[in-house]
Amino acid sequence: MKFNRVIVWFRNDLRVRDNVTLSKAIQSGKEILPVYCFDPRMFEQTELGIPKTGLHRTRFLVEAVTDLRENLRELGAELIILEGKPEEELLQLAEKYEVEAIYFSKEVTSEERNVDNSLESAAWTKGIVTESFWQSTLYHLDDLPFPINQLPEVFTQFRKSVEKMSEVRAEIPSPLTVSYPGTEVIFSAGDIPELSQFGLEEAKQTSRSVIGLVGGERAGLRRLQSYFWDDDLLKNYKQTRNGLLGTDFSSRFSAWLALGCLSPRTIYYEVKRYEKERKKNDSTYWLIFELLWRDYFRFICKKHGDQVFHISGIKNQVDSWNRDQEQFALWCEGKTGIPFVDANMRELNQSGFMSNRGRQNVASFLVNDLGIDWTWGASYFESKLIDYDVCSNWGNWMYVAGVGNDPRENRYFNILNQAKNYDKNGDFVRAWIPELAAIKGFDIHQPEELNSSELKKMKIELGKTYPHAMIEMKKWA
Ligand SMILES: Cc1cc2nc3c(=O)[nH]c(=O)nc-3n(C[C@H](O)[C@H](O)[C@H](O)COP(=O)(O)OP(=O)(O)OC[C@H]3O[C@@H](n4cnc5c(N)ncnc54)[C@H](O)[C@@H]3O)c2cc1C
Repeated sequence: MKFNRVIVWFRNDLRVRDNVTLSKAIQSGKEILPVYCFDPRMFEQTELGIPKTGLHRTRFLVEAVTDLRENLRELGAELIILEGKPEEELLQLAEKYEVEAIYFSKEVTSEERNVDNSLESAAWTKGIVTESFWQSTLYHLDDLPFPINQLPEVFTQFRKSVEKMSEVRAEIPSPLTVSYPGTEVIFSAGDIPELSQFGLEEAKQTSRSVIGLVGGERAGLRRLQSYFWDDDLLKNYKQTRNGLLGTDFSSRFSAWLALGCLSPRTIYYEVKRYEKERKKNDSTYWLIFELLWRDYFRFICKKHGDQVFHISGIKNQVDSWNRDQEQFALWCEGKTGIPFVDANMRELNQSGFMSNRGRQNVASFLVNDLGIDWTWGASYFESKLIDYDVCSNWGNWMYVAGVGNDPRENRYFNILNQAKNYDKNGDFVRAWIPELAAIKGFDIHQPEELNSSELKKMKIELGKTYPHAMIEMKKWA
């Protein structure tokens, strides 16, 4: 006999507000078992010998799951914690509590889809229904003005058609209550693992760490409130978004979006409210424009499947990449001797975050200047980024590597020009490379141009206290 119960399996949708899957389960009128499953495959070592999910994202995830548990408690339910392969653990749980169905949000990339497929077929053999729902994008897949196999290969075409012909669906408010079987049925919901259980050491707190990027829906909504309303930063977003230093030049929504602590629709409707109540300008539009990039990469992954992870990309380019491990290690560690690249990489390593401008520069340096396998760069970002999103990451890397859907053939970044435009006084480099901090002004970007006695006065010795540039910087002059 089965009870009138469903499992809601939370994945990258760790929120109660505007959560389609949770809302469908509530509408079904059945008792709900909310579940999060820590899948050990997410924490394995990659081929590069680094954890697939590094410290910053793991910490953010643990915080987000903890926050979800607290939010669900307020609604009268308890988040059940599982550890193991979801396709096995969820099924066992379903059998134990004799549930009718398992509900979850759809994913688009192969690792996640493989799990879904295994779960679906195993559940089918046991007579358990599975239902999955699309919800990670601003525009719903079914509302696109074209079938996914005819998704335009050029972003601008996609954007223009969607803006003209599609509408963003209404946001679903937070539920008032979640019907839960109760502790007399579920005696123990399990503990949320500690960071140490993932084999990760707690990083030393750095004074330079980015805004307390704390995981969870409540922290995400707080950031929305402060960025839009309390600090009124949205109205200048378009002018500030290419910044590097500080916490407020861009929204920092990415990590909350990646784990689904914030829904893109919540942000969209808050922008609309801001436009009505405060100001409507290029900046308010531009934030939505950027959310469309996020949508676009997700739809591209849906259309092209596994090709987005292949070295040949979706352009089927020939593999002529360099695989020099020593050079790659210098890039990873922020020891290339190119201060602008190193500062960005050190920020990533120490904080888990890097600005969009930084990401474009370090990626271009790796693939265009060093010619190193772009998939290595993408994997490194996967491990380190607090906001890692499979589609945005691999999509952007393909773009920079010239194997994606970019109509411009050459997306080369002249690092010195970029430094001139975005870090003219060198303050960003000074913040992340203390050993060069004594060099004044823009000179900090070109220590090789200073003579050794000048450097000596500042206690800098190239090749010792800071590396020599690994490539000739003159080419950017
Ligand atoms: C090589 C490379 C790798 C990247 N990897 C990721 C990733 O793993 N996860 C991720 O969320 N973003 C990724 N991005 C996109 C972008 O750098 C980040 O979304 C952005 O820097 C996050 O900061 P923010 O939230 O303050 O952005 P804002 O400028 O405030 O933008 C608002 C939101 O729009 C979306 N967005 C903005 N730019 C992009 C973009 N180029 N592509 C897709 N979505 C975008 C994000 O969801 C972001 O939170 C990558 C970019 C590059 C060049």
